[in-house]
Amino acid sequence: MSDFDYDLFVIGGGSGGVRAARVAAGEAGAKVALAEEDRYGGTCVIRGCVPKKLMVFASEYGTVAEDAKGYGWNIEAGSFDWGNFQQRLNAELDRLEGIYRNLLKNSGVTSYDARAKVKDAHTVELSSGETFTAKHILIATGGRPVRPEIPNAELGLVSDDIFHLETLPKSILIVGGGYIACEFACILNGLGVEVTQYYRGAQILRGFDEQARGLIAESMIENGVQLHCGTDIVEMRRATDEDLEGKSEAGVSMGASMQEMLADHSGGTPGEGPILVKGTNGDTKIYDQVFFATGRAPNTDDMGLEEAGVTLGRKGEIVVDDYSATAVPSIYAIGDVTDRVNLTPVAIREGMAFVETVFKDNPTKVDHELIPSAVFTQPEFGTVGLSEEDAAEQEPIEVYATSFRPMQTAFAGRPDRVMMKLVVSKETRKVLGCHIVAPNAGEMIQLAGIAVKMGATKEDFDRTVAVHPTMAEEMVTMRNPVRSA
Ligand SMILES: Cc1cc2nc3c(=O)[nH]c(=O)nc-3n(C[C@H](O)[C@H](O)[C@H](O)COP(=O)(O)OP(=O)(O)OC[C@H]3O[C@@H](n4cnc5c(N)ncnc54)[C@H](O)[C@@H]3O)c2cc1C
Repeated sequence: MSDFDYDLFVIGGGSGGVRAARVAAGEAGAKVALAEEDRYGGTCVIRGCVPKKLMVFASEYGTVAEDAKGYGWNIEAGSFDWGNFQQRLNAELDRLEGIYRNLLKNSGVTSYDARAKVKDAHTVELSSGETFTAKHILIATGGRPVRPEIPNAELGLVSDDIFHLETLPKSILIVGGGYIACEFACILNGLGVEVTQYYRGAQILRGFDEQARGLIAESMIENGVQLHCGTDIVEMRRATDEDLEGKSEAGVSMGASMQEMLADHSGGTPGEGPILVKGTNGDTKIYDQVFFATGRAPNTDDMGLEEAGVTLGRKGEIVVDDYSATAVPSIYAIGDVTDRVNLTPVAIREGMAFVETVFKDNPTKVDHELIPSAVFTQPEFGTVGLSEEDAAEQEPIEVYATSFRPMQTAFAGRPDRVMMKLVVSKETRKVLGCHIVAPNAGEMIQLAGIAVKMGATKEDFDRTVAVHPTMAEEMVTMRNPVRSA
């Protein structure tokens, strides 16, 4: 009999924690407990991927009526009802949370609705005051959005807040250039919000393929997002009556949405008012809301980790080895709290590899190479492998790329362009990177990702017969390199 209360105590009921707990209990027969301080399902289900993707879908319907007219339909677009959508969204999230709770229960995991911290290498203490011992402790506490350290930053929203707005703002300033900032710029623009985006870097989506970043930025601007790169906030504060009446010395410029806002003072969260922002680009504007998508921090504060001997990195992330083991042999960590590749499927894989290693006597490293991923901007971006720039630094390459107006939207009269690109090693002919900017690029890259992961060469792509007429057929019909580097 074990000397511990549990074989495994998992802290955090998000993507990684729930999967590890379920598999350890259900498949490996371990006695498992899990503590969750908020809602089961974690960031992905409650305030990340799932509600965001549903908002992406909601925002894309705005153009359907227009496109349908181009196809001969006599229809007019109605208006978007945020309250109605939000009610349905909340019901869906309640349903999904219920599923997560049941998955744990049905696998035999004991759940505690409490905050947990580590007391020592084998002891967990709950906010309820209870303590439990465990042979192994798994930290899967994820991360949280952080505001920049500027005066009045607390006036701004972060991604967690966006799903709970009582009314949709008429205008919003989104600060940041990463995937969350860009996705919400497109979502809110599609829902009819006047969107301004500030990003201090030279181009949005840093780290991704430059040609893809350029096309997405151009398309966002064409679709109505007022994107200002190389721009940051100089000052932000609650707007005064004088500002709103245009009488202050701040030199406020009045956008269309602001005029409307003055006529109908209903935008934003009740009890709060519009926000005045001065930008480094010289603009001073009043927005209903400001939304900071300026980064995330691992949830390691006040968890007793360093006291227990766990090493934390510069951002507060838990430092782990290839097997997700921390500096304390009985404590492991997976998912966003380790700040490796912060994506849901990666947290899940890390959870499963942990169970293989610790409970199935099968030491398993997580493979972080060639992870396909998508950015749900409009147009969408699917990507796997190296960008053209990174590949060129590594070895001589050939680039095969094409950009065109896809049949469906071109017929409807929209100017949208898509891009397909393969980055190929000159020496091995292997496809080192595949980048797609197009509607449903996320769906396409999942499949192209298999080929790239298998080590497919350009000639393997060429041997594959095209599916016609599709956008994706271009991936197998690009004959000549557009450039070498
Ligand atoms: C807006 C947004 C959009 C995203 N979109 C995508 C996407 O499209 N695709 C994708 O793959 N990824 C996406 N992500 C990232 C994805 O959500 C995360 O990578 C994933 O949720 C990480 O899982 P995790 O298990 O590490 O942590 P989480 O899912 O964050 O779970 C951690 C859990 O631990 C709980 N917790 C924290 N501290 C304690 C404590 N001390 N005691 C008890 N419980 C605690 C938290 O309440 C939380 O439920 C998105 C993230 C955001 C914010």
